Amino acid sequence: MKCPSDGTQLARIQLEQVAIDKCHQCDGIWLDHSELKQLRNSSQPGLEEDIEEEYGNPVTQPGSIDDHMRCPVCQDVGLVGRHISYFKPVKVDGCPKCLGMWLDDQELDTLLEDKQEMNEELHSPGVMDFVKFVAGMLPKRPR
Ligand SMILES: [Zn+2]
Ligand SMILES: [Zn+2]
Repeated sequence: MKCPSDGTQLARIQLEQVAIDKCHQCDGIWLDHSELKQLRNSSQPGLEEDIEEEYGNPVTQPGSIDDHMRCPVCQDVGLVGRHISYFKPVKVDGCPKCLGMWLDDQELDTLLEDKQEMNEELHSPGVMDFVKFVAGMLPKRPR
């Protein structure tokens, strides 16, 4: 699989029991639908409720179609940006076909900065929580 942003071959990295794809050039990560689902299912019970209690429900807004990034899985499908306001407004790029999600380094930094503040209260490792948070954003597959 190739990075949708710069075309670098993505490397598989292991995050707990789930393998995700990471670009070592731009530090973006790709999460496919099954990985997101696995991560969401592995959420520690109560975590989502805790986050919601503290920060309220996330607000998602449709963004624009990115005209240069294409889904690394489907290839012929352009990624669609979505703005998520939770801790801070960030944009994630999702594939409308396979429902995978691309997060670039800047988006990760924005989220992780806030995740770190939050983690001081929740005492849990940042990246994993962040990915679980993203997994919670997973749109339902249309029937
Ligand atoms: Zn890249
Ligand atoms: Zn796709």
